[in-house]
Amino acid sequence: MADSTESESRKLLGRLREAMASDDAGQARLDKITHLIADSMGTEVCSVYLFRDDETLELCATQGLNIESVHQTRMRIGEGLVGRVARFGKVVNTPDAPNAKGFRYMPETGEERYSSFLGVPVQRLGEMLGVLVVQSKEAREFSSDAVYALEVVAMVIAEMTELGAFVGEGAALSPLHQQAVLIHGTSAQEGAAEGNVWLHEPRVIVTNPIADDPQRELERLHDAVEELRVGVDKMLEVSRNGDKEQLQVLEAYRMFANSKGWMRRMEEDIARGLSAEAAVEKEQSQARARMSQVQDAYLRERLSDLDDLSNRLLRILTGQGADTGAELPENPILIARNIGPGDLLEYGRGLRGIVLEEGSVGSHAAIVARALAIPLVVNAKRITTEALNGDHIMVDGDQGVVHLRPDETVVGAFRDKIAMHTQAQERYASIRNKPAVTTDGQRINMMMNAGLMADLPSLDGSGAEGVGLFRTELQFLVRNQMPKRSELKALYKRVLDAAHGKPVVFRTLDIGSDKVLPYMKPTDEPNPALGWRAIRVGLDKPGVMRMQLQALLRAAEGRPLSVMFPFVAQFEEYRAAKAEVEKTIERERILGHVLPSDLEVGAMLETPSLAYAPQKFFDEVAFISIGGNDLKQFFFAADRENERVRRRYDTLNVSFLSFIERIVERCAISGTPLSFCGEDAGRPVEAVCLAAMGIRTLSMRPASIGPVKSLLLRVDLGELRKIIADARHRGDQAVRPAVMEYLRGL
Ligand code: PEP
Ligand code: MG
Repeated sequence: MADSTESESRKLLGRLREAMASDDAGQARLDKITHLIADSMGTEVCSVYLFRDDETLELCATQGLNIESVHQTRMRIGEGLVGRVARFGKVVNTPDAPNAKGFRYMPETGEERYSSFLGVPVQRLGEMLGVLVVQSKEAREFSSDAVYALEVVAMVIAEMTELGAFVGEGAALSPLHQQAVLIHGTSAQEGAAEGNVWLHEPRVIVTNPIADDPQRELERLHDAVEELRVGVDKMLEVSRNGDKEQLQVLEAYRMFANSKGWMRRMEEDIARGLSAEAAVEKEQSQARARMSQVQDAYLRERLSDLDDLSNRLLRILTGQGADTGAELPENPILIARNIGPGDLLEYGRGLRGIVLEEGSVGSHAAIVARALAIPLVVNAKRITTEALNGDHIMVDGDQGVVHLRPDETVVGAFRDKIAMHTQAQERYASIRNKPAVTTDGQRINMMMNAGLMADLPSLDGSGAEGVGLFRTELQFLVRNQMPKRSELKALYKRVLDAAHGKPVVFRTLDIGSDKVLPYMKPTDEPNPALGWRAIRVGLDKPGVMRMQLQALLRAAEGRPLSVMFPFVAQFEEYRAAKAEVEKTIERERILGHVLPSDLEVGAMLETPSLAYAPQKFFDEVAFISIGGNDLKQFFFAADRENERVRRRYDTLNVSFLSFIERIVERCAISGTPLSFCGEDAGRPVEAVCLAAMGIRTLSMRPASIGPVKSLLLRVDLGELRKIIADARHRGDQAVRPAVMEYLRGL
């Protein structure tokens, strides 16, 4: 670009900055801006169109078009030349607008008199906010330099829109981040919560897009990039001997951080009048725009590396980000694109709710959220873009719905819902110490699932009779390195201490599939759910399993101990695992450690194959716990993590209930204690049907004990059995309709 244009765009930006700094109200400020752009670019018209809603653009300010049409003229995305710029995010530059593809005549603006049209998207980090247009009577095609200058100005307008610079008295703009927004996501933990937004990684706000001293900005950029490079080199040094994949990512980072093209483009932007951070953000915006169009997974990954790098650079330049020292608001609702279980645990119980833009129901973050009983919504599209720190927010974990900046009527209705929840909780508290006995006298053991120390206070609070499933892998998953035996022993001992003699069933490490330890070499398996996981890993690489067994045996300190192995698919695996336990006991004995007074070794029935194991297995195993989550996914061949299929088959499907009944019968022959510990145990309707099939011990999340017990106290299992048998007899696919009818009549 010629020097003259360079100083042109700098001059324009300089004037723009003055306009921004003025005390004018929003609309006046925007009017002034359109005026000075038209003036600087030598065009008769300059107009700003901004989005009213997702689909509609509105003329918000103009120099040259009919002033009466401001806030009156609207168009749908894709409609007319302006709409095309917005839809495709691409510049439209034509000397003959009335004959250009997509032109739409809008008489109210008087624009037919203008021949040339240049429209550029107003976007911020890939998010389309509107369109900036200049038009002139003279039929000319704008030079690439002119296009560039307008793009830079559009970026500054985007930045200012984000900061609310056009919102104020007299402004009829639909201010972004001020309207109520309703987002439909997926429920991952029930409950309702009201509070204030806390962004896990707040987006960096650039408050000074225009600078008047390019030399100083260049120095700032160079210093920041140097700091970034040193940081990446340090990370590389630390990871040298570590995981190969992580190393590759860091190498790619380094390549970008040293990329001459990236640097050159940012330097050019600064020379044209942008501040260092605005130059970084401009590059980032372009990378995001490319990202949305690239199909190739590898390329997308690289672009997302670049995005991440730009974020780091912005944080260095602005001093914003993780270490700003900002304090959690009152009743914080955590918002993040995604979050790991470790980070979530650090926030702990202080959070009122969690909303994730990505995430999945079976993720570890979801498991932790459930353990902490914090309402969680995942798949909440655009939440990290829409929400700002401190925004009022209501999270409906039951429906998977999020109300951001809700209006009064929503607030009222939502508070009623929270009040109903509270009333229900009070009702559950009143039956906390009552045994779960059905009206026909059947006693059901109510156990709880746990995995964190944070769960244990629930043992008293929920009225659970013990821990039916302690997921030991959570302690492995939330760390950056393998825990030591002594640490595990101390932890298991604290669990047993907190249980005060109530039974606790420890499940040995269940890793693989979705549960990947950050410090173990990942294995690239085509189908991890059917792959090298749980007991398969334990038996093939027994080192960790032995260490864990030792920790458990020592933690018991002479008390009774129950251990179960996950994902046992055949008798032989149980035998091999049991042999490991016996070997470990022998070693402990030789070492002179105190042994548990009683030791039970059970198996989880999570694959259909085990239901058909030889009778000898049922005779030998101390107890069986049905892992319904896995069992169901294998029974129906429907991935529990896949939103498309995970709800496709009903637990109350006749085939599945018959299968459960078959397991109950087999256990009855040998008198083997049987429990059910999948998520269905915590769903009241499913739970009473499982009880009707003969399950006498249910293990569930602590928060489910109240609702499940409350229903159990009201049902007659004999009657339910009859209803289920009739439904089967009729050839119903699922017994749910018949069961629901019975329950409604109670
Ligand atoms: C199950 O599969 O039902 C179970 C309890 O184990 P997890 O959910 O941890 O796989
Ligand atoms: Mg399982």
